[in-house]
This record gives sequence, C-alpha cells and structure tokens, in this order.
Amino acid sequence: MTTVKCPTCGRPVEWTGSNAFRPFCSERCRLVDLGAWIAEDRRIADPDAAAPMGEDPDREDGLPIDDR
Ligand SMILES: [Zn+2]
Repeated sequence: MTTVKCPTCGRPVEWTGSNAFRPFCSERCRLVDLGAWIAEDRRIADPDAAAPMGEDPDREDGLPIDDR
C-alpha cells in the first residue's frame, strides 16, 4: 500500500485506485490546491503587466500636430 502526503494539509493519503482525489485526501483539499493554482495564474496573467508597449509608435517620431 502506497501512502502519500496530501499536498494541501499534509495528511497521509492512501494511493489507491478508489481514491479519486489522490494525491489529495479529499475533494476539499483538491479544490483548495486548484484554487491556489488559478489565483497564481491570474496574478501572472495580469492584463496591466502584459499591456502592449508602443501602441502608437508614430508619436515618438514627433509628427507635427496641426493645432490650428
Ligand atoms: Zn488534505
């Protein structure tokens, strides 16, 4: 019988085919870990951090602005 530690709470989990939540001890721990994953992914994929630069490249060339 193989036993692993639940990544979320550290409790020993029997690694069996009937344990649908392995390597987690329960669905709750599985969802907690999944939620942490999604939160981490959202933080990395922050739209502000990934804002495209140089959206208006002509501006840096000093195009004459007709202000009449
Ligand atoms: Zn657990």
